[in-house]
Amino acid sequence: MAHLSITFCRQLARARREKGMTQSALAQAVACKQSAISMLESGQPEKLSQETVGKIAALLGVPLEPVPAGGAEAPAGSAGYCPNAACFSNIPYAVADALLFWPRPPAAAGRHCAYCGELLERQCPHCGAAVAGGACCPACGGALITNTLPPGTDPAAWAAQRRREIAEWRSLLS
Ligand SMILES: [Zn+2]
Ligand SMILES: [Zn+2]
Repeated sequence: MAHLSITFCRQLARARREKGMTQSALAQAVACKQSAISMLESGQPEKLSQETVGKIAALLGVPLEPVPAGGAEAPAGSAGYCPNAACFSNIPYAVADALLFWPRPPAAAGRHCAYCGELLERQCPHCGAAVAGGACCPACGGALITNTLPPGTDPAAWAAQRRREIAEWRSLLS
């Protein structure tokens, strides 16, 4: 099985959840094991054939990723971030009506977020560029972290409340 980027695997996971499909329902649809889907979504597609990954991507409406020009992995030293909007490592703020999340502090070298355990991302979910810190991609301007709050949430009010919670929580750690 060819290498798949974490970004692509995460896109599959997001697309599946957006469809309200369980891992086992997806596994049944493409005739593989639920554990293989779970592995795929965590960035380990080794249990699946290229053909099965193609079926999964087609079913979920996720375009297969192009073969990256310079290798799939971002440079080892590039900043990582937690893609979880609800994670305390991400400081939310509102610009006009858009809710953005600034990853603080940038993650260290590990694979998982020390705050919530989610797998860290090192590439822009929109264009695949390596990230350099900050809420938006330096190459395409897209928001790195998807706002997953329920529609109708007031961005400014939610962000202000969340920042107070994060500040209080961090004060307990110091
Ligand atoms: Zn996290
Ligand atoms: Zn980008």
